[in-house]
This record gives sequence, structure tokens and C-alpha cells, in this order.
Amino acid sequence: MAEQVSADLMSRVVALCKRRGIIFQSSDIYGGINGFWDYGPNGVPLRRSVEQNWWRYMVEDRDNVVGLDSTIICHPEVWRASGHVDQFSDSMTDCLECKKRYRVDQLEKPGVCPSCGSTRMTEPREFNLMMKTYVGPVFDEEHVAYLRAETCQPIFVDFNIVRIATRQKLPFGIAQTGKAFRNEINPRFFTFRSREFMQMEMEFFCRDEEAMDWFEYWRKERWNFYTQVLGIPENKLRLHWHEKLAHYAKAAVDIEFEFPFGWGEIEGIHHRGTWDMSRHCEFSHQEQDCKVYDQDSKESFFPTVIETSCGLDRICLMLLCNGYDEDTAETKKADKDEDTRVVLHLPPKVAPVQVAILPLSKKLEEQARPLLKDLRRYFRTDYDDSGSIGKRYRRQDEIGTPYCVTVDFDSVNDQTVTVRDRDSMSQERMEISKLPAYLMGKI
Ligand code: ATP
Repeated sequence: MAEQVSADLMSRVVALCKRRGIIFQSSDIYGGINGFWDYGPNGVPLRRSVEQNWWRYMVEDRDNVVGLDSTIICHPEVWRASGHVDQFSDSMTDCLECKKRYRVDQLEKPGVCPSCGSTRMTEPREFNLMMKTYVGPVFDEEHVAYLRAETCQPIFVDFNIVRIATRQKLPFGIAQTGKAFRNEINPRFFTFRSREFMQMEMEFFCRDEEAMDWFEYWRKERWNFYTQVLGIPENKLRLHWHEKLAHYAKAAVDIEFEFPFGWGEIEGIHHRGTWDMSRHCEFSHQEQDCKVYDQDSKESFFPTVIETSCGLDRICLMLLCNGYDEDTAETKKADKDEDTRVVLHLPPKVAPVQVAILPLSKKLEEQARPLLKDLRRYFRTDYDDSGSIGKRYRRQDEIGTPYCVTVDFDSVNDQTVTVRDRDSMSQERMEISKLPAYLMGKI
């Protein structure tokens, strides 16, 4: 029963996302392409503002983290050094009956097809997740290049240029956000497992003896980002500590969110030792670019790396699942409308529209338009003058608009408007001159 409700919730979120232009499948008129998703007019501001909030929290509000924006395709040696060309693979198996393909570690019952129940499954085979392309006019093995499978490798490669340019000394971090590509065997759960997605990663370079302290520091900081900045309730998040660690790693923990389909990773925080820098040193032979010099001991050493790595699309999906709600009959009455209210309780700072101006009549344009122009200087502001006021509230609720400002005929005389709160649905009359400061305090 619970499973059915959750599946239902997920399909409602997916349907709302398409209906309101938040997220929908890429190439829809051709039947879509599995694992690729487009963000529509209401999805772009959501994703951008989550990214901006991450950037502010991780880079702009700190002295010891700086930014980078590298290319998606880099030298193919980067991916040999990182181990992706040889080892970045999932074990897969095919059902000989229904021809479906699965990741071995995702089978509920080993050797049994989850779709048709057959036990005629192929032996597991390794499947590399790197997306291949060619650079230059000749399409042969010599010209193969890869779309990056994670955003962090260029950070290691550019480490020394960035360090010198910014005069940073250890400990310090380099952050980057951008696209990553993985040829996932089984894309699923909407955007949760896509083939093209956005990552937001920060690599923190420090001395080995202080690395575990920094690991703890960043684990707490990242937890705070979700609970304090994005307002996700603590009971919907958990830490998942890795028991099996890579040979170079000292600690690894994931932050997971309780999605309608179960707990899923949104971020990994990893102690990566000196693995990345030493590998790039081995493959590039540029020791001076991969090590730092210690004035006291007069020796160079590889910095130890603490990584925080999260997926922007998974965070947006978390916000959508967490915020989705359908109101009960009692709350319906408050807005005097018959239909069920679908509402997205998004944090105001990431809502696609933060304020909607709703003049009660088209004749009030002269009063309402200047207000729109004024509020647009501070907030993502929308204007809607068509249909009943109840319907307009519903439309705004569905995309998570936290404040609706109604301009009526009294506004013309007394320079006041009504502000309606999405969550409580309470309405407050206030002077237009006080509106920006009031909303600023709320948003
Ligand atoms: P998973 O175990 O779910 O495949 P992972 O451990 O391979 O994830 P990482 O390589 O640690 O993931 O990537 C860091 C973050 O990037 C993840 O926490 C997730 O938020 C995001 N991410 C990874 N793969 C995908 C994907 N296919 N689609 C969307 N986001 C992804």
C-alpha cells in the first residue's frame, strides 16, 4: 500500500513537472530519449537558483575556496590517469527472455529478471560508462575523446594554475559546477539517474595530518546546506557511511534523501588521500604542477584531497518531491475554490516565481504594471491577469510561488494591496511603499 502511494506521488510530481514546464523529457515529439531531460521556463530558474545558492555558500562566502569552469572535453589522458577508461564500469546482465538490461547490483533477486521473472540471464559483463566522441576530422581510435564523467578531474589538472593565480596556500579548495555524462545502463526514477546531468563539486587540498578534521568540517557544512539553506527536514535526510573504501581513501559518507522510491544518494563526501594528484603526476610527468612546496622541510609533497560532490538535478528532484502537496478539503475552503489545491512548498529563494502580481481586473493595468517593474528589480516576478483570482492562485501554487500580490480597485485610492501567503493562504493588506522591504524580509 505504502509503495503504491509513493509510486503515485512520484508520477504526480512527474506529471506536474511536464504540465507546468518545469522538467520534461528531451526530444518529446520523437518519443523522448532515455536518460535525458529538458528544463522548461519554470525549471530553469529553479535549477539556476539552487546552483547559485550552492556557489554562494561554497565559494563566494569563503576566503579559502575559489571557482573554476573547465571544458567538458579534455585531454583523453586525464581519464586514463583518473582510472575512468579502465575501471569506470558497471556490471550488467541481460534477460534472454524479455531482452531487458540491468545493473547486477540493482537486481532485487540475483539472477532473476525484475521485469518478467525469468531466470535466463546472461553472465555479468563489464560495461564502461564513459561517453565517447571524436575530436578532429578523422574518426579513428587515435582521435577518441570522452565527455567528462565527473566535473572534478579538471580541478586536479588545473590545480597549480589556479593556486598561483589566486595566491592560495594550503588548505584551500577549488569548486566547479557543470555538465557530466554517464552512459548509465538503466536510467530511472525521473532525473535521479540521467545520462546527462549537472554536478557541483569542490576539491579541498590540505596536509594529510589535518585531512580528517577537514573531512568532518565539510561533512557538517554540507549537511547544513541541505537543512539550513534549502530547508530540507532533518528526518528526511540520513548519512550513509561506506564500509568498503577505495584503497587510497580514509573515509567516505553519502548524504541521502528519502525519495518516494526509497532512500537515494544526493551527495558524497570523500577523503581521497593523495590518489588523484599522484596519478596525474604519474601520467603527465609534471611533478611541479601536482605537488606543493613546504618552506620548512624544503620538500615537495602531494596535497591530500577532501571532496564534496553532489548532483544538481537530484537536489532539484529532492526539492520537488519534498515540496509537493495536495491540500485537504478544509484548506480548500479558505480560498473558496472547489478543486483540489496542488501546491509546491519550495523555499522562496529557489522558487521559479517569487512574487506574482495579480490585478483583479485588466483595467487595473496602470496601477499594477509599475509595481511589476519595481518588484522585478529584486525578485523573479510574474504578472497574471487572466481568469478568476482563485484559478490564478492555483496556477501560482502549482509552481511554488510563495507570495501573490493582488491589486484591486481600492488600491487606486489608498495605495494598498493584498499579499497572500502560499503556505498559510492568509492575506494581509499593506501599503505599496512597504511591499519591497516586507518581501525582502520574507524571501
Ligand atoms: P550512484 O551510486 O547513484 O550511481 P555515484 O556514487 O556513482 O552515484 P558519484 O560518482 O559520487 O555518484 O557522483 C556524485 C553525485 O553526482 C551523486 O551524489 C549524484 O548526486 C550525482 N550523480 C551521479 N550520477 C548521476 C546520474 N546518473 N544522474 C544524476 N545525478 C547523478
